[in-house]
Amino acid sequence: MNKLGLLGKNISYSFSKSYFKDKFENEQIDNVSYENFDIETIELFPSLIKNTKNLKGLNVTIPYKESVIPFLDELDDKAKEIGAVNTIRITKKSKLIGYNTDYYGFKKSLTPFLKNHHKQALILGTGGASKAIAYSLKQLNIKYCFVSRTAKKGVEFTYNTLTKDVINQYQIIINCTPLGTSPNVDLYPNIPYDAITSNHILYDLIYNPAETKFLKQGKQQHATTINGLNMLKFQAEKAWSIWKID
Ligand code: NAP
Repeated sequence: MNKLGLLGKNISYSFSKSYFKDKFENEQIDNVSYENFDIETIELFPSLIKNTKNLKGLNVTIPYKESVIPFLDELDDKAKEIGAVNTIRITKKSKLIGYNTDYYGFKKSLTPFLKNHHKQALILGTGGASKAIAYSLKQLNIKYCFVSRTAKKGVEFTYNTLTKDVINQYQIIINCTPLGTSPNVDLYPNIPYDAITSNHILYDLIYNPAETKFLKQGKQQHATTINGLNMLKFQAEKAWSIWKID
């Protein structure tokens, strides 16, 4: 039996396991199983690979998307440019190849909502996911700026410099912070929501809950709101196509 799985830490909540379990059932795929590989530190990764027979591929989640890279044999060009891996394919010759499908999931889920005036985006947060989002926006020819809690190289705004004027200029705002994730559903990024209009898209990478406070406040201002569920589904399907299970 071929094996696939999710590499991460504290991932019992995992979307991926139930997504692939349902997919295999619905599509009557019976030559592969999917399980969680929950490891305490990335140093345990080589022994996991060595001791798991018939492992063909992995999804990778927090906190290993960057730290897994030194353990891989090759990186796909896009993963190299993004600097993060969320999918690993294990070849017949046991080579480990890293890919990034988050950028694809984000791009595919955002594209149907784009209008001509959506020319500039604010990316809230500067972690692993934000890099894949920046890569997608570049491909879509949308200019972007990073917003962070701390001023640093490559960051254009800190939260206390986000004026109404800035919000007027950037009509796509993407939450790449964990603020608002269940069970901390009362948290949200600190931006001037009263400057949001119906011309804005508010995109939250969070999918649990389906509507975060960030999205709720955007909706109150008549913005288009998108949660992270479709991104997650699209990146999962792209990973499946990379694994090429036959
Ligand atoms: P991360 O590296 O843990 O954090 C992202 C960034 O959020 C941090 O670098 C930080 O940026 C900011 N941040 C963290 N705590 C904060 C706080 N208390 N207040 C304000 N900002 C804070 O996470 P990630 O891997 O990039 O993922 C970000 C989110 O996207 C997570 O919720 C994750 O579940 C979600 N995600 C969803 C999908 C999907 O398919 N839907 C895919 C990937 C990730 P600064 O230090 O610069 O402020």
